[in-house]
Order: sequence, then C-alpha cells, then structure tokens
Amino acid sequence: MDTQKTWNISKATQLYGIDKWGAGYFSINEAGEVVVRPSGGDDGPKVSLHEIAKEIETRGLSMPVVLRIENILGSQIRLLNETFRRVIRESNYQGEYKGVFPVKVNQQEQVIEVISQFGKEYNHGLEAGSKSELIAALSMMKTRKASLVCNGYKDEEFIDLGLHAIKMGYQVFFVIEVPGEIDLIIDRAKVHQVKPNLGLRIKLSTQAEGLWSESSGDASVFGLGMSHVVDVIDRLKAENMLDCLQLLHYHIGSQIPNITDIRAGAMEACRLYEELVREGAPMGYLDLGGGLAVDYDGSNTNFHSSRNYSIEEYCSDIIESVITVLAKNRIPHPTIITESGRAVVAYCSILLFNILDVSSFTPPPIPESFPEPPSELIENLMATYNMVSSKRILECCNDALFYRSQARQLFKHGQIGIRERAMAENLVQHILIKISQVSKKMEHIPRDVQSINKLVYDIYYGNFSIFQSLPDVWAINQILPVIPIHRLNEQPTRPAIISDITCDCDGKIDNFPDPTHERNSIMLHELRDNEEYYVGIFLVGAYQETLGDLHNLFGDTNVVSIHVNDDGSYKFARELEGDSVADVLAYMEYDVRSLRNRFKNIAEDSIHKGYITARERKAILADFEEGLRGYTYFEKE
Ligand SMILES: *Cc1c(COP(=O)(O)O)cnc(C)c1O
Repeated sequence: MDTQKTWNISKATQLYGIDKWGAGYFSINEAGEVVVRPSGGDDGPKVSLHEIAKEIETRGLSMPVVLRIENILGSQIRLLNETFRRVIRESNYQGEYKGVFPVKVNQQEQVIEVISQFGKEYNHGLEAGSKSELIAALSMMKTRKASLVCNGYKDEEFIDLGLHAIKMGYQVFFVIEVPGEIDLIIDRAKVHQVKPNLGLRIKLSTQAEGLWSESSGDASVFGLGMSHVVDVIDRLKAENMLDCLQLLHYHIGSQIPNITDIRAGAMEACRLYEELVREGAPMGYLDLGGGLAVDYDGSNTNFHSSRNYSIEEYCSDIIESVITVLAKNRIPHPTIITESGRAVVAYCSILLFNILDVSSFTPPPIPESFPEPPSELIENLMATYNMVSSKRILECCNDALFYRSQARQLFKHGQIGIRERAMAENLVQHILIKISQVSKKMEHIPRDVQSINKLVYDIYYGNFSIFQSLPDVWAINQILPVIPIHRLNEQPTRPAIISDITCDCDGKIDNFPDPTHERNSIMLHELRDNEEYYVGIFLVGAYQETLGDLHNLFGDTNVVSIHVNDDGSYKFARELEGDSVADVLAYMEYDVRSLRNRFKNIAEDSIHKGYITARERKAILADFEEGLRGYTYFEKE
C-alpha cells in the first residue's frame, strides 16, 4: 500500500483512470483538482471543476448540478467532422461526410442550439424521430446545407411539416421505416406538389454486440426486410417516383463496442446500396445511423461500456468498407451520413454533487476483555480472528459467515441477548476486514473471498437521485466514470460505494471503471468537518438527462452551462433552475393551491383542539410555504 508520502497526482490519475476515459478533456492539476480542457489534447485553456462548483454555490444554486461545458460539444463535432474529412481526403474517396445529430440523445434546447451553432461550419444537421423532435429540429436549423433526417413513424402532420420544409429549401429526408408509410407520403406529396427525398431503413442481418444488440438482426422491430424493400421499389416505380429514392439508412444499435460489427454492417449495407442503384434509384446518400461508442470505463475493449476502436478507426473502417464493396461495380461513392449522438454529447455534461454523510464500515474496536465466562460463540469468533492468514483465508471466511448466522439464529430463539449479538456481529466485521486486507496481497483470491471484499466498504450518501439523473446506471448497469473533483493530492483511504438519497435500495452506484480490477467499490477521502466533499459523475451528456423519472419525487436538477474562453476565464453562459417541490407535485396532478388550503385547515383545527397557538400556526405555515418553494434535493440552511 502507498503511504501518504509516496502519493502523487499520477497515482491519482491511474487510480481513477481519468487519462483513459477523459479523452483529453479531463485531468488532475497539481492542486489535486479535476480540470477540464475543452479543446481536448495538450494545449488550450484549463479550468478547475472545484472552482466552478464553488462559484455555482456562491451564486446561490444548490447541488446537485448538471454542469455542461459548451465548448466540448464544439470540439466533439469538430473531431468527428475533421476526422472523416481527413480520412476521405487520404483515401481518395469521392463523396463527402455530412453528419446529423439525433435529437433524442439530448433534446435540451440549449444543447441543440449549441450543436446547430457549432455544426453550421460542417453542415452538420439534425435527425428527428418524432413530430415533436421535427418541430424542434426545424426551428433550430442554422443552414439549408445541412440535412434533416426524419426517422420514426410518421403521420400526416409529420409528413406535411417535412414537405413544407423541403419547399422552403431544406434538405429533408423521409426515411421509410414500415411498408405502410410509403402510401401516405406519396399521397401528401401529391397534395402539396412537392417532390420528397426518400430513404429506406433496412433491417441488416449483421447484429452488433453490446447492450443494444436487438436493434439489429432478425429480432429488430425496425426497418424493412428484403421483400419489403422490393415492394417499396415497385410501388415507387409504379408511381413514377423512383427518382425520389436517394438514401439508404440502417442503425444496428447504440454503443457498439466492437469495430468488427461496424465494418460488417457497412459492408452489408453497401451491397444493398449497390442493388438499389441497379434498380434505377438515383441514391447518393448512405446513412449508417448511430452506434459510435464512448469508452466510459477507459478500458479500450469490447466490453459493453467501452469500445475497442478510436474515432479515427471508426471513420477509416467505414470509408474503406464502402470503397471496397462499391469498387467491384464502379458505383459512385455516396455522401456518408452518420447519426452519432452519444459520442457527440456524452463528454459535455458532468453531474456534480456533494456528499451528505458516510456510513462507515469500520466497526467499534474489539473490546480488551469480554464478560466472564466468555460464551462459546465469542470464543470461536476470537479464534477465527486470530487465525486469519493467506493460507487459511477461505476457512476463516466460511467460519466467520457460519458464526454470524449462528449468532442470528441464537438471537431469534431468545438464547442470546442484543449485547452478545452486537458483540458477535462486531467480531465478524473485524474478521471480514482482516480477510479483505490479507487478500489484497494475494495473487489468486478465492471467489468467496472476492465477494467478501464487496461487503467491506463505506457507504457515501450523495445528494442526487440515480433515477432522475443516471437512469442507465439503474436500468442497464451502465458504467460511468466517478471521481472526487478535489483533494486528489491526498491519498483516498476509504473503499466506498455511493448511495443516492432516494429511499430505494437500487439507488446506488457499486460498479466503477476498472483500471485496477477493483470494480465494486471506489476509493474516497474521509470527510472533513465543515468542508464539502464534491464528487463528479462524468460523461453523462447522452441519454441521461431526460430518460430519468421522478422517483421519490426528486425533480430535475439545476443546470449550469459554462463557456470557457481562450484565456482560461469562463462565463456562466446559461443557468436553468431545477424543479421546486411545488413543480414536481404539480406534475403528479396535485393542485398546490388546494394542498395549501387543506394544510391551513389542519393547522386551524389544531389551534381549535389546543395543540398549537395562533402564533405557532403562522410559523408552521411559513415553513410549509418554504418547503413548497424549495429544491427537491437536500438543501443547506
Ligand atoms: C438512438 C439512435 C441514434 C443514436 O445512436 P448513438 O449510438 O447515440 O449515436 C441514431 N439513429 C437512430 C435511428 C437511433 O434510433
């Protein structure tokens, strides 16, 4: 084990893996604080997140806060576009790249606004999967040169809106997802006398690994099978509208960890593209959907929360696949569209929160002596404690668990009292800690002992709700990087898991990125009196902000957007106050006015019955009002 003296920043960097998952945007400075460098890479301005957190609180906004670094959005859009452009140039590809951002990945107005702003230079457009998203996207488009791809089920209103946009000079693609859609589109196009740009969403047989593998392959609910494709072509031919068919679309899942699947998908799609050209469709666009993964755990592997490729490899594998397949019949190279959502927005948001309390695993010390004569149970436990060594570790582990259950049985049957049971449980905890310490020095840790290590940690209570702010952690075991944003020049000494403040036993984080194979707990610092301890959960910009729910009526968090200037100063670009208690009650259909009146009546009745005075009623009602106005999370006085 390191001692405080040998601890340094590079050890902290290694422990939390920040250089692995941080993608150049995050690192630790000499003062032991996490800094953000929105340009990525080695130069460019840096800002301490601890400083930002303190500034936020000074302005009167409470934790938890979703902190967005706007420039990171710009950097990611630039990275994706510049990389594609370079690969295209270097491989003599004849088409261009034109990305779109899928609105569903982060629908917040601020985010779409910033993406359209930064995307303008690259003609980076938007993808809409519903009528509401189309309305949002249309109003946010900053250039007619960017594309607007419409996926999802489309009713008449949806189609009409898209047709109007085409009339106004926007490049809107209607992607046909189900065979029935084509008739309605043909119909509405005739009514409005607009020539629609059509795309086909196809069901590939290529299936990607990862958590979203059912987005593709035979089990996929989306997309047209081969006979549907043939039907749609025939239908278009019959209407003399085959010249509208310009785009082939597929999406084999989000967060595809393995580059092999991305390549296989592209190759298969190109074969179909070729067939559509042969059928006489003009084509010109190949849309590969989303899937570009984020390396959340920094392992650079095909694990579901990682990816075994770089953006560079992603771009060049796609371009190479297209060149290879289309070369055989000299089909002209299409414009490449990707709908990368996660990879564009994940990095820009950080959930910041303070730790409210710690429930320490450290038991009270073993007493110097036990009541005489010591019971057999206590004697056995002491003997086990003294026996713990690497040679007998498994035996001690089994014994400790056996005696613990014996103590519980004896208590249940009234044979021992609460004091003896407490003593026994205390000794068991000491044995487990000793086992855990001994095991850390062993090369091969028996499986049962490994699971002991999962029990020996503190619980840090964080001021946030998993269900509201990190739904994927709860729902699909998504792993997200977690790191205290300050004090990293001190060695953290407590293995911990993090619990939120919902009263739900699922409301915890006990899976962490894994540079040292210690994935069920994270090392944190001991709390100090009168000093906040801030923790950040990183890479939460994609999907986390709106999938969340109001479990235990914890509402939206405060949001602060920062823009970092070239000289290292920063400005609070936008600020959004989270929900108040009255807001979330109103979402649940409570009428706040009548709640207030009912409470007034209860107070009045309490005066009448002599429980409180009129003066007390005034104070109680004032507190009730303050409660309604308050933030749904833990507020400092
Ligand atoms: C969800 C979705 C995306 C976004 O996928 P990412 O993996 O986040 O890039 C793109 N296209 C379609 C059709 C989607 O449903």
